[in-house]
Amino acid sequence: MSADNQKPERLEATFAFPMLYEWSIGLYGSRFFQEIMNNKRFIGIKCPGCGKIYVPPRRVCGPCFKELTELVPLSDTGVLTAFSVVNYPFIDPNTGSRRPIPYTYGYIQLDGADNIFSHIINETDLSRIKVGMKVRAVFKDRAEMKGNIEDIKYFELIR
Ligand SMILES: [Zn+2]
Repeated sequence: MSADNQKPERLEATFAFPMLYEWSIGLYGSRFFQEIMNNKRFIGIKCPGCGKIYVPPRRVCGPCFKELTELVPLSDTGVLTAFSVVNYPFIDPNTGSRRPIPYTYGYIQLDGADNIFSHIINETDLSRIKVGMKVRAVFKDRAEMKGNIEDIKYFELIR
């Protein structure tokens, strides 16, 4: 019998130590999720140099290196700029569980913002979703919110 015909021995690697960890989402990351929890609204931050508005808020403007401090309210609507319908199994790093397939991941330019925000779109039928469509954020009920990205359930198409 050649080595090619042998059933390979099944090897296992056991990891016995849980890797529970947490990290700070920072001052502006905290404000971003607090605004969602308290008002079901997005906030961005405006650059005093170039005027760009970023969402989520960040500390520094990449193109002009100005420190950012001016938080501004943003709409819960935007335009879908790109999307992908995902049909392969995927372990969601936020939950550690397999995300049900298919699902659609989209790039959204929120009204009033200059950069792109990405999240789940609740449409997987390619005949019903197109780049350029208007979308609106759908938030969890306040009691279910935990101050993370999953407080936004998904974006729905506005027809
Ligand atoms: Zn700038």
